[in-house]
Amino acid sequence: MVSTQIEARGVADARVLRAMREVPRDRFVPEAQRAYAYEDRPLSIGHGQTISQPYIVARMSELARVKPGDVVLEVGTGSGYQAAVLAHMGAKVFSIEIIEPLADRAKAILSELGYAERVRVRHGDGYAGWPEHAPFDAIVVTAAPPKIPEPLKQQLKVGGRLVIPVGKHFQSLLTVTRTKDGFREESVIPVRFVPMTGKAQE
Ligand code: SAM
Repeated sequence: MVSTQIEARGVADARVLRAMREVPRDRFVPEAQRAYAYEDRPLSIGHGQTISQPYIVARMSELARVKPGDVVLEVGTGSGYQAAVLAHMGAKVFSIEIIEPLADRAKAILSELGYAERVRVRHGDGYAGWPEHAPFDAIVVTAAPPKIPEPLKQQLKVGGRLVIPVGKHFQSLLTVTRTKDGFREESVIPVRFVPMTGKAQE
C-alpha cells in the first residue's frame, strides 16, 4: 500500500510513511471489509460514512506538517484511523465525531491499539472546534463543509495549518496557514469527501 499507492504519488515525509506502514488499517474497518483494507479506495464504516482512501490520509497528514509534541484537532473521527496516524507521528490528538456510535467504536479500537493516551475522542459537532484545547498546531478536517468554518481558523496557532476539503458538488482540498497578519489559503487537489453535517449545513 505504502510504496505503490502513497510513495509513488509523491508523499515523501518519513514520519507519514512510517505511520502508514505501522498503523494497522485493517483494525479500523468493519470485519466484512477487512480483506480490502489495504486497497486504494475509501471503504464503508457504516452509518453512511467511510474511512478515507489511504493516499488521502497520507497526503493530509503530510500537508498538516505534524511534528512530535504538536497538538492537533481532527474533525470527523470516523473509524479513528486518521487520528491514529497523526498520533503515530507524535501528535496529541483531539478528535470530534458527530455520529455517536462511530465515536464510541473509534474510542474502543484506539484504546485496544494503545492510543488512548494520545487521542481523545468526543461525540459532537466539530464545526465549533474544541476551544478548551485550542490553539492547535494543525487541524485536519475529514468531512466537507460548503465554506471554511471560521471557529476552526480562529483555533489555529500562528504558523499552524488547517487542512480541509471545501465545497458542495466540487470540492477542493485546501490548506489555510495562520500568519502573523492573517491567513494564507492554498488549493491543493480536487477531492470527494462526505459532507460536513450539523451547523455547517445551516
Ligand atoms: N477520519 C476518518 C477516518 O480516518 O476514518 C474518516 C472520516 S469520514 C470521511 C468523515 C466523518 O466526519 C464521518 O464519520 C462523519 O460522521 C463525520 N462528520 C461529518 N460532519 C461532522 C461534524 N460536523 N462534526 C464532526 N464529525 C462530522
